[in-house]
Amino acid sequence: MSLKDICSNCGTSYKEIMRTGFVGCEECYRSIQPLTENVRELFDGKMHSGRSPK
Ligand SMILES: [Zn+2]
Repeated sequence: MSLKDICSNCGTSYKEIMRTGFVGCEECYRSIQPLTENVRELFDGKMHSGRSPK
């Protein structure tokens, strides 16, 4: 019932990823709920770094 914080594919935990900054596999993004939201924010700036200034 609680949110998943460990990848079911590689077993990497959310805390580990936040500490190291590396995900274990692509599945981490899909299976770890807290990660999906945090990663979205983390990578949002990088992915849109080419955005034109206002
Ligand atoms: Zn994984």
